[in-house]
Amino acid sequence: MDKIVSSITKKPVVLVATHVHPDHTGPSINSFPDIYINPGDADSVPMFMSNYKGVVKYLKDREIIDLGNRQLEVVYTPGHTKGSTTFIDKNAGYGFSGDSFGTGLLLLTVDFSTFIASCKKICSLMGGKKIKYLYPGHYNEDNMETINKIKDMLALSQNVLSGNIKGNDNPDNTFGLKLAVEGNGYRIIYNESAIK
Ligand SMILES: [Zn+2]
Repeated sequence: MDKIVSSITKKPVVLVATHVHPDHTGPSINSFPDIYINPGDADSVPMFMSNYKGVVKYLKDREIIDLGNRQLEVVYTPGHTKGSTTFIDKNAGYGFSGDSFGTGLLLLTVDFSTFIASCKKICSLMGGKKIKYLYPGHYNEDNMETINKIKDMLALSQNVLSGNIKGNDNPDNTFGLKLAVEGNGYRIIYNESAIK
């Protein structure tokens, strides 16, 4: 990754991660002396980033990372993990959502109320700042997340929380998450304890 980055810019690089999972951090982070993450994921660092030799630093909610000709806003969006983060480039009209939004499959590791709050927060931001898309971490060229899709996820989550929709068994038991709900092309995997 350091070779790709140095082919793009000779300027100093700040490494930020949307969350700590190894498919979003991984060995290539060792090419960088420090990494910024959401403090909500700090207690998962020993599990997922134990081989990192650099310094772990922390992002602040709603802070602006100023790249000179571009500004990225840091938006905490807990749901997939406690410290999941979305980055918004207001002027470009898009953002980067990691696994928070846009994968079509949400592995929910916090409770639904927290995720619902994240959906509302990002919807009001996207609407107000006219953000058209969020590019997810698992991008496949046609799965950009839109505000309407997030509103669908929000409605689905509210229905689970209120008991209107009951989950089915998740046969894959992904990450130990035992239940699944589907709607509007989405699937949310979660545990009973998330219904609060
Ligand atoms: Zn993840």
